[in-house]
Amino acid sequence: MPEGDTVYRTATNLNTALAGKTVVRCDIRVPAFATVDVTGEVIHDVVSHGKHLLMRIGELTIHSHLKMEGSWHLYRDGTRWRRPEWQARAIIVTDDWTAVGFQLGLLEVVPTADEHSVVGYLGPDLLGPTWDAAEAERRLTADPSRTVGLALLDQRNLAGLGNVYRNELCFLRGILPTRPIGEVPDVARLVDLAHRLIDANKDRVDRTTTGTLRGATDWVNRRDGKPCLRCGTRIERGTLGDDELTLRDIYWCPTCQT
Ligand SMILES: [Zn+2]
Repeated sequence: MPEGDTVYRTATNLNTALAGKTVVRCDIRVPAFATVDVTGEVIHDVVSHGKHLLMRIGELTIHSHLKMEGSWHLYRDGTRWRRPEWQARAIIVTDDWTAVGFQLGLLEVVPTADEHSVVGYLGPDLLGPTWDAAEAERRLTADPSRTVGLALLDQRNLAGLGNVYRNELCFLRGILPTRPIGEVPDVARLVDLAHRLIDANKDRVDRTTTGTLRGATDWVNRRDGKPCLRCGTRIERGTLGDDELTLRDIYWCPTCQT
């Protein structure tokens, strides 16, 4: 599943290509919104909010979420698509670009004035202009018994972190993802690190949490069975979740994290 930095970069690229342009063709391939036609309307902007994407056209907002398999591509006229046509869910064409949303996990169209109804529940956006660290900390610690691993992934607390960041953040702060957040000594530092880490990656194509792009780019994520880059202990893997929806793999160093 894409992390907030990937969605941020997608929004930035779409915005650069499309903002201010007029839609010459529009095809929304989701039954509930198949009759929506924004042809002739101006694309105001494309922004991300956490892992959600908002494309504002005329009076409407096309709200999408990439979930597991989704992506937005930009094509010049006549260029061959890099994914099959049947996976296309939304096609927005301007004079010089075709934007295609493939296999979007969520796609809906709402009046821009009602955007809050689809993203209003989200916590402070780590990559947004109104990022509020104190509010993120307040929300994260509202339920002290919640495990830090689950609290970090809950987009109602802070918006933008996925599984890679939650595993890496827990390692970098020396805490097990299964530990209750009420036992984490300095949540403000955890929040600050989350912000700095995702911000440092937001304009990069290849993500790194170790600070290098040569060799290991992650400390623990997907490194189970390999030696910890700090202490050499074998990295462990397990799962963490409240239910099937939130169940994801966790990775940790049993020596560096307590
Ligand atoms: Zn270690």
